[in-house]
Formats: sequence, structure tokens, C-alpha cells
Amino acid sequence: MPSEEMLIIVGHSWQCRDCRRKLLDDPDRILSRHRVSEEEAALLRQLTEEDFSSISSLAQAIGASISDLYGIMNHPRCRLRHI
Ligand SMILES: [Zn+2]
Repeated sequence: MPSEEMLIIVGHSWQCRDCRRKLLDDPDRILSRHRVSEEEAALLRQLTEEDFSSISSLAQAIGASISDLYGIMNHPRCRLRHI
């Protein structure tokens, strides 16, 4: 299962179009502010608009379950803070 930090980045990007754009356009800028493993960073750099077409494709792209993603979206840091 991905780290909580990873899930927060991806879960927030699912909910927030602005941050999704930033993540897809310049992942290193987002990664400079979040502590994730090298493997997770590599996965984040590979994400595309297509991966965000559905929650299931997004979960699959990062090796998470759909319930992991829905779970993290209730986390205050995920809902209330831009990444
Ligand atoms: Zn945001």
C-alpha cells in the first residue's frame, strides 16, 4: 500500500483540478515539498491525465486500492490543504 503522503498527494489531486494540473505539469515542484520514497516519486512523475479519468485507473496507476483513495479523501490534510 502506498504511504499516507503519497495517497494525500494523489487523493488531493483527484479532488482539486489546480493541484492536479501542477502535479502533471511539474511533478518535481510538488515532490520537493513532500516526503515520498524514490519509487513513489517515480510513479508520481509518470502519472498522466488519463490516469485521472477514473478513480479505479488512478488507484491502479499508483498501486493503491480504491478504498485507500476514498479513505484518504476524508483526511483533513487531503481535503483542506493544497499540495
Ligand atoms: Zn489543491
